[in-house]
Amino acid sequence: MEMKFEAIKLPGVDPQRPVVIAGPCSAETEEQVMETARSLADRGIKIFRAGIWKPRTKPGGFEGIGAKGLAWLKRVKQETGMYVTTEVATKDHVFEALKAGVDLLWIGARTTVNPFAVQEIADALKGVDIPVLIKNPVNPDLELWIGAFQRLYSAGIHRLAAIHRGFSTYDKKMYRNLPLWHIPIELRRRFPDLPIFCDPSHIGGKRELIAPLCQQAMDLSFDGLIIESHCNPDAAWSDAAQQITPDVLDYVLNLLVIRDSTQTTENLTELRRQIDSIDEQMLELLAKRMRISREIGVYKKEHNMPILQAPRYSEILEKRSNMGEQMDLNTEFVKEILKEIHEESVRQQMIIMNE
Ligand code: PEP
Ligand code: MN
Repeated sequence: MEMKFEAIKLPGVDPQRPVVIAGPCSAETEEQVMETARSLADRGIKIFRAGIWKPRTKPGGFEGIGAKGLAWLKRVKQETGMYVTTEVATKDHVFEALKAGVDLLWIGARTTVNPFAVQEIADALKGVDIPVLIKNPVNPDLELWIGAFQRLYSAGIHRLAAIHRGFSTYDKKMYRNLPLWHIPIELRRRFPDLPIFCDPSHIGGKRELIAPLCQQAMDLSFDGLIIESHCNPDAAWSDAAQQITPDVLDYVLNLLVIRDSTQTTENLTELRRQIDSIDEQMLELLAKRMRISREIGVYKKEHNMPILQAPRYSEILEKRSNMGEQMDLNTEFVKEILKEIHEESVRQQMIIMNE
């Protein structure tokens, strides 16, 4: 379906990139909310975030302060003039948030995966004029993400934006959630007028990754950033490792290089950034493939099997070069790469055999 998004114009908020949303992962106490909000407002932040209802992986942890935190957000608005936003996952959340005068809503990654939940939110918002930001689903499924936009759009919500917060992965290495930049890039290609925010806090999962991720997002021409900021990050009740103080946030934002998208060479820069990001993904995949090869090596050793299994090797070469051909890749090129990869896997397994 065709969607024509309307700009989210908020009086007093500079539409220049990046539009910044900041605030704690969770509203914890009135004091924590007010202290963080005042600090952020002093540093020029115009949109304040705080989770009131928190989706947690396991029960028993802090699941958000609930509706009473909405009164604190109201106070933030009154005392600082900032706009406020919170996560909604059910129709009750929507009604409570609207009643409290929350200015923007966001849908969390664990909600976007569930069409029933997204539809419930869309139905609750029929006839309401409020901007909604939709986080990517936890799994790397662009169509599911787009489906959520369609549900909200069909309910009459045309002031929409995307939040790229990374994608869940079993083996957490550098990132808490893999950026897989090609997915938001494809979203931009399909819907050029849909603003995209980056959430470096949930992608990185740690403070030191916030600055480089923000820069990458700016280099990819994202429109905004949503960053977790807490007056005392180490003492945060959720996501402590990834929150930064308003001071550090200010420092990070000041260091950002915002590229001039009116220049003609910008097209080239952007393509090169995409190449960098694809190379990074290819290396991550190669590293994963080698780890699996080594696991196979261990199995072969334990079962006294030889490393080389000729039929398997021919099958790999044959199948993959056909696959490559269908993707418009040069067959010789694909064979060459696979030969190199296979040789390295054999070398890795030989090391294991000799251990
Ligand atoms: C959050 O923003 O604090 C949050 C719960 O994020 P996500 O839905 O991206 O996990
Ligand atoms: Mn969080």
